[in-house]
Amino acid sequence: MISSIRTKLTVWYVAVLALIIISFAGLTYLLVVRVIRQETDETLREMARNLTTGMNAEYQEESAASPAEFSSDNVIAEVINESRFHDYVFTVYTADSRLVSSTAADTELNTGLLKNSSPEFAFETAPVGNEYYRVRQFPFVLGAEHFNLIVARSLADQERFLFRLRSILFVSVPVALFLTGLGGYFLARKSLAPVARMSERAATISAGNLYERLPVGNEKDELGKLAAIFNELLLRLENSFQQQRRFMADASHELRTPLAIVRGESEVALSKDDRAAGELRESLAIVHDESRRLTKIVEDLFTLARADAGQFGVKFGKIYLDELLADCVRAVNVLAKKRNITLELTLPAEMPFWGDDQLLRRLFINLLDNAIKYNYPGGKVIISGATDSSTCMILITDTGIGIDAGEKEKIFERFYRTDLARSRSEETITSGSGLGLSISRWIAEQHHGTIEIVSSGESGSVFAVSLPKQKLDKVSNH
Ligand code: ADP
Repeated sequence: MISSIRTKLTVWYVAVLALIIISFAGLTYLLVVRVIRQETDETLREMARNLTTGMNAEYQEESAASPAEFSSDNVIAEVINESRFHDYVFTVYTADSRLVSSTAADTELNTGLLKNSSPEFAFETAPVGNEYYRVRQFPFVLGAEHFNLIVARSLADQERFLFRLRSILFVSVPVALFLTGLGGYFLARKSLAPVARMSERAATISAGNLYERLPVGNEKDELGKLAAIFNELLLRLENSFQQQRRFMADASHELRTPLAIVRGESEVALSKDDRAAGELRESLAIVHDESRRLTKIVEDLFTLARADAGQFGVKFGKIYLDELLADCVRAVNVLAKKRNITLELTLPAEMPFWGDDQLLRRLFINLLDNAIKYNYPGGKVIISGATDSSTCMILITDTGIGIDAGEKEKIFERFYRTDLARSRSEETITSGSGLGLSISRWIAEQHHGTIEIVSSGESGSVFAVSLPKQKLDKVSNH
């Protein structure tokens, strides 16, 4: 089997062209044969007409001038003898096939022509002796006598011409095909050269040099477009590789701090045999806190990894967001009390929704946790909601430290934490890892919804969660 596209294209090209050229040559040849035959027939017909007219005229003239010596045979012989042309034979027979006169001395030729000239008075092509002849009978009447005029033309020179034409075609058609094949091969090679260049470059691209791009050439043609699309794919791959690398680096960085604390604390606790129970308890409490933080980071990482791999099975079911939010508020109440922050819940009486109970709990706890963590002691968090036929909208408003305008989108990135949050030394604030909001956004997206920062400034931030309700409608209509 032919494996190269270039050769395949050339073979197809030559095959199609061969079909066209051979049919064209064949048709041309047949047409030439036809035209030559028609012209020959026309000339023979014309000559026959001239001869019979000449004989009739001579007959009239001579029969009037000297009726005593006059004979039809003489008149015919006279006219026939005067009409000698190269390659042409004219012979006159009486109705009972007696030879009256002929331009050919060869009797064999004459009988051959007589035998082959059609009694239906149509032109025939007949072999006589070594040559082919075009021959036809024309009956005519001279006085009261009936005669047959046989007109014939040797086809020898026409056969020679046709043989030459055939030879030319037999040589020129293969030569033309060979040349067009060669041309086709070079054209295919030229037009596929960008593919060769692209595959050469693509072969050198791997994870280490994803920044490389394929040569685009003419970006308006098909190959240019293919290269551009491939380059876009490379860009996406490069971005996701970079994201992956950053994620790994950030994850190890986040894990390093609590691990270092755990290690440091345990080393201090173990360094002396006679540590006081109080000191040991203190160290253990720190180790406990840090391991809790580690557990949270690892859990979050695990959630994101499963989400990225598409393995997180979202379990949809009918829930009431008002109840779910009340539960979340109860869950964060301890932390709020600890920081002296008031939680205020103002929701419509019922907010039915079709979603994953556990994931939505996680989303709102993350937001409430942040609203408390990044708040000032004595601050306030208001959870308000509204619902219409298509959407459930929940707003979480805090009176906290706020987020700079330039960081509003960045805080949804993995491991991103604002400088404002980092610079604060309170334990609750430093405990974050920067994964909560990216998980929350993923959860909202799983519900075809969004999380946005509606406003943020010195007086605090407002986070809006918008969750479309279509699925619930579909299900409840059943
Ligand atoms: P974490 O809270 O664990 O650090 P998140 O992804 O939940 O991670 O939040 C990312 C960052 O966004 C936080 O570190 C903080 O800088 C900022 N942030 C989130 N919520 C608020 C808020 N309500 N007020 C001010 N800053 C916030």
